Amino acid sequence: MEISFKNKRVLVTGAGQGIGRSIAIELWRAGAQVVAVSRTKSHLDSLHHEYPAIQIVSVDLGNWDAARKAIDQLGHFDALVNNAAVGLTEDFLTTTPENFDLLMNVNVKAMLNVSQVVAKKMIDAKKGGAIVNISSQASKAALWGHATYCASKGAVDALTRVMALELGPHNIRVNTVNPTVIMTEMGKLGWSDPAKAAGMLAKIPLGRFGEVSEVVNAVLFLLSDKASMINGVELPIDGGFLAC
Ligand code: NDP
Repeated sequence: MEISFKNKRVLVTGAGQGIGRSIAIELWRAGAQVVAVSRTKSHLDSLHHEYPAIQIVSVDLGNWDAARKAIDQLGHFDALVNNAAVGLTEDFLTTTPENFDLLMNVNVKAMLNVSQVVAKKMIDAKKGGAIVNISSQASKAALWGHATYCASKGAVDALTRVMALELGPHNIRVNTVNPTVIMTEMGKLGWSDPAKAAGMLAKIPLGRFGEVSEVVNAVLFLLSDKASMINGVELPIDGGFLAC
């Protein structure tokens, strides 16, 4: 099955490093015109240095007005990947209101903001579109020390279902992928401790964490015309963790 994004413009958020960076690169390889939006300029500069055809935009998506203005200026997109997020570990009893606000702001509210701007232009263009929101297994399962992160990803799933409902009539499909641990910078933050990692690995039937490429492949499929009847799904990429 060959997936092509020829003549498609795709916006990827959080594309400076980790999963988002690889999604941007693979979309480019598949023929897309890619715009990579992220926060740290040096990460984006290195992406642009390696792949000059990928347009880069540095903005803090946690700043509603600045993000809205920056995304609005980029014009029409055929597809969007809402990937940017922050993670942190903190026990429920010591979770601070500041950290709760930070995660809800970047992981959920920024997704709403970017999606509103992009979806309105998709609707105006009357050409449909596809959106993939990067959620997590944390949206469905309790992970120790991840109260705010789990809450934010639960909100991502809920937001996605409503987007699928309300944007579907405009032929805009909206889905999530829900990966298990992937050893990016964010993954290392929560799972570098061998004891914690072993506890998680024991609950994954395939007995390993995921690879970045395994998330990228699922995202490209859901964004593509090959998934033309798939709308509103939450796709685990978790080696069976959520099935048990
Ligand atoms: P990384 O921390 O490696 O990368 C996150 C990216 O998001 C970075 O490029 C970062 O920018 C960007 N970002 C964060 N905050 C902002 C902001 N305020 N404005 C703009 N950009 C921002 O994470 P991953 O690649 O691991 O995660 C990607 C997605 O996958 C996230 O949604 C995450 O929740 C999800 N996920 C990750 C899992 C894992 O184990 N790694 C498991 C399940 C889901 P900067 O360059 O400044 O760091």
